[in-house]
Amino acid sequence: MRLKKIRISREMLLGILAYAFETYPNEMVLLLKADRRGGTATVSGIVFPPYAVGGPYYAILGEGMMPPDPNIIGSVHSHPSGSKEPSEEDLIHGRGPAIMIVAYPYTESSVVVYNKQGERLDLEVF
Ligand SMILES: [Zn+2]
Repeated sequence: MRLKKIRISREMLLGILAYAFETYPNEMVLLLKADRRGGTATVSGIVFPPYAVGGPYYAILGEGMMPPDPNIIGSVHSHPSGSKEPSEEDLIHGRGPAIMIVAYPYTESSVVVYNKQGERLDLEVF
């Protein structure tokens, strides 16, 4: 079944937003672990990617450097530019079915999730 919805606790989301603030004006990238039930995935944890390269314009995960964890459903990265749109690179380099973007100024309403096709997924904060 295709992934349709991501659920994340407010506490975890605020942690991600705080980390994005800390990293600003650079991008940050984190991996998302989740429990998946059908089309819904509930984020259960955050993993710092090994060998992530953070730069002013793009945060890249090295090829083949994803930890071999089947519970990782994708990644979250920041857009210091404020754009909520996924870039072409985001869709090409996205690992797993979920690509979460937190856009500057990093509030709860600046969080969006896409799939690899660039379609918006539902986001529920609980
Ligand atoms: Zn991006």
